[in-house]
Amino acid sequence: MKKICFIGGGVSSCFCSINIKKRDINNLIDITIIEKDDSILKKLLKTGNGQCNYFNKDINIDNYFSSSNVSILDNLFDNNYINKVYSSLCELGICSYNKEDLIYPLSRQAKSIRDLFVYYLNKYNINIECNCILKSFSKYLDGYLVNDKFYDFVIFGCGSPSYNRFDFNIYNVLNNYVDIIEVKPSLVPLVSDYKYIKNLDGVREDVYIKLYVNNKDVKLDGKIVSGQVQFTDYGVSGICIFNLSNIIICELLKNNNVVLGFNFIYDFDFYNYISNHGDLSIYVLLCNIVNDKIVNTILKELNINKDEVVCNLRTNIIDLIYNKLVDFRINITNYKSFDRAQASSGGVSLNSINNKLEAINYKNLFFTGEILDIVGICGGYNLAFAFISSLRVSDVIIGELYD
Ligand SMILES: Cc1cc2nc3c(=O)[nH]c(=O)nc-3n(C[C@H](O)[C@H](O)[C@H](O)COP(=O)(O)OP(=O)(O)OC[C@H]3O[C@@H](n4cnc5c(N)ncnc54)[C@H](O)[C@@H]3O)c2cc1C
Repeated sequence: MKKICFIGGGVSSCFCSINIKKRDINNLIDITIIEKDDSILKKLLKTGNGQCNYFNKDINIDNYFSSSNVSILDNLFDNNYINKVYSSLCELGICSYNKEDLIYPLSRQAKSIRDLFVYYLNKYNINIECNCILKSFSKYLDGYLVNDKFYDFVIFGCGSPSYNRFDFNIYNVLNNYVDIIEVKPSLVPLVSDYKYIKNLDGVREDVYIKLYVNNKDVKLDGKIVSGQVQFTDYGVSGICIFNLSNIIICELLKNNNVVLGFNFIYDFDFYNYISNHGDLSIYVLLCNIVNDKIVNTILKELNINKDEVVCNLRTNIIDLIYNKLVDFRINITNYKSFDRAQASSGGVSLNSINNKLEAINYKNLFFTGEILDIVGICGGYNLAFAFISSLRVSDVIIGELYD
């Protein structure tokens, strides 16, 4: 009997262990999952606001961020492999519902996927040890000792510090076997020192976004240039902001000056509208285009009386207002911490593993999911990577034991 231990009872460990046991027709493998919390799959329940956006129709390495060499993952991001992963989720019994490219369970409940996984873990007699944190880990003979018990294979699927009480000591332990890239919050709200930020608290607007680094306009990928921004009393949040957070955090850590510019009226002919309604006050006119908190802020910044009638305003003042509406700039000075982050960047360097997701210098030591130095944008990419990486490890282990 070969013994396998998974560190962490999250999505990647559960999916990987189920896929191993499903194909272990001769019952050669005994699996244990150790989980530090009182139950497994807790983070899964929080995903997609409880609805679990678990996959995307357009899985592509360009939608991921890593500071390691991602070419090691080429075989995983091959379309045939992605289809295989998706099919294996369907085979377990997950029915899907698509919202454009985003894929959710038909039930719209993360709980339904959690219950399905728990069903299979029981069916395949996979041992789950909850309230069991990794205390010790070392190489021993052809395998490893985990908390003093011997295993032939060990798979680290212990996620990241995002949204979690996390034991950072795990990185010190792993540092003896692989390189660790410094871990930072990712998909996280951003903090601004804009003078009037508190006045904008609660505003939600659909915007096009520009990023300026040291006053230079940075070209952004099509997927992250638009969306709904949510202003808060400390800064900005929302999916489009989360998706920009990796790039921005890197610039902030280099001490670069970061500014976001929001276009609130990208689809709107402002000058035509103004020429037809010159009899309105500037406040009433602008409030018919954007949120009144934005109007108040713009008029305050430009020192314009809100009762001024539009046709009495000089052209250069109208141009200043227009420029604010199409490029409303706020300085970004910081980002929120791990407890507000949906994911983390950094972790186990992809340069330390081979294309089987096994440590280059340590046979039978594998990594799946968010512990690896790769993070996707919002839209199901992170759960998808947890599934893709864990199916790959299950293929490798079954291949080794059965071929
Ligand atoms: C609020 C929120 C919403 C999200 N929404 C989405 C979404 O809609 N779509 C999407 O694709 N992604 C989403 N994500 C990201 C997604 O949840 C993660 O990428 C995914 O869960 C990673 O899976 P994993 O198996 O690698 O790690 P996890 O699911 O985090 O599991 C790791 C497990 O390991 C355990 N563990 C950690 N350290 C130890 C230790 N030392 N000893 C023992 N056990 C340990 C943890 O308790 C945890 O149970 C969201 C994340 C958050 C926080």
